[in-house]
Amino acid sequence: MSTAAISLRGIHKTYGKNIALDGLDLDVGEGEFFCLLGPSGAGKTTTLKTVAGLEEPQSGTVSLDGTDMTGVEPYDRGVAMCFESYALYPHRSAYDNLASPLRSPRYKLPAAEARERIGEIAELLGIGALLERPVGALSNGQRQRVALGRVLVRPARAFLLDEPLSHLDAKLRQAMRAELKAIGAVRRTTTLYVTHDSVEALALGDRIGVIREGRIVQTGTREEIWHQPYDTFVARSFGRPRINLLPGTVTAHGTFLSADRFFEIPSAPAAVRSVAPGTPVQIGVRPRDLSLGSAGPGPGGIELMGTVYITEVLGRATEVTVRLGAQHLSLVVPRADAAGLRPDAPVRLTVRPESLLLFEADGADGEPGRRITG
Ligand code: ADP
Ligand code: MG
Repeated sequence: MSTAAISLRGIHKTYGKNIALDGLDLDVGEGEFFCLLGPSGAGKTTTLKTVAGLEEPQSGTVSLDGTDMTGVEPYDRGVAMCFESYALYPHRSAYDNLASPLRSPRYKLPAAEARERIGEIAELLGIGALLERPVGALSNGQRQRVALGRVLVRPARAFLLDEPLSHLDAKLRQAMRAELKAIGAVRRTTTLYVTHDSVEALALGDRIGVIREGRIVQTGTREEIWHQPYDTFVARSFGRPRINLLPGTVTAHGTFLSADRFFEIPSAPAAVRSVAPGTPVQIGVRPRDLSLGSAGPGPGGIELMGTVYITEVLGRATEVTVRLGAQHLSLVVPRADAAGLRPDAPVRLTVRPESLLLFEADGADGEPGRRITG
């Protein structure tokens, strides 16, 4: 196996009684753009600080390019980190803030090359026209981009970026996602990127790691994370509206029984057949995998009958919430398909069996149910 650029093994980090990292393992490949996604408090910032050497874990090892970093000072690790709370020189120009790290003797960059790096990065971050202004006169979003630029100009073995677009408005954030990956230094450099925004993770990550309560739940490409989520936590982390999770039990014939009705699963997926009858499970179906109306000719559509609860226009699509017995199911359909729907009207829904996911029931302690793979 080739050596990972960043490798963490069994990292435990506690602050008093607070467990920040609980046996975390993580590998980021050479040159990879890796997104670490998780809710607030999951341990994302602590992970980055541990890689950077700003925090010493109680146990576990950090290696960079195969070399154990235990006891190696942050300065000597050769990584460049961008913090959530950025420290800039407010009285100095944006250009000066970008250029000052490059004056360090360790880089010895020729002046022309430094100017070129700064120019490219400032342009792609959309701050090219602001370079002469004092940073103190810039908006929060502009300052955050200067802080990000200040990290990206540095020749580093890895970039560690902690929610670097969080202070930008939605439109700019979307534009920046594309620009960020166009920056030459980012394309060439291993990047560990932290976010709590799943859209950002899906857009940016060559691979994504999902973190919960100080551990990595799953690592994979966006396709793997989307189609083969490890558990209901990962499944719920991606996609808006969220995946529908219907609790029920599997019966002897592989039919799914939920609260007060059967869902016939005619060509029962292997996952359903692998479960002992009577086992509590959850069926996961994403809102965009449900359609209105009957399956029509062709194999294997599963039909469900329900009543319209509420509809909500989302641009060109409409979110329809349907009542199915005691449960609510959300689907997203083209706006025209939902035009005639009125509350309480009966509707027929169709879903293809191959788009169903099967999970164990969530634990009583809130532990997410794992996906059953059959
Ligand atoms: P994230 O970046 O995912 O929001 P953090 O890594 O900042 O999460 O924090 C993980 C956990 O560790 C949280 O419960 C947080 O309260 C705790 N924690 C982080 N830093 C400190 C600290 N300096 N002192 C005490 N608790 C901390
Ligand atoms: Mg954080």
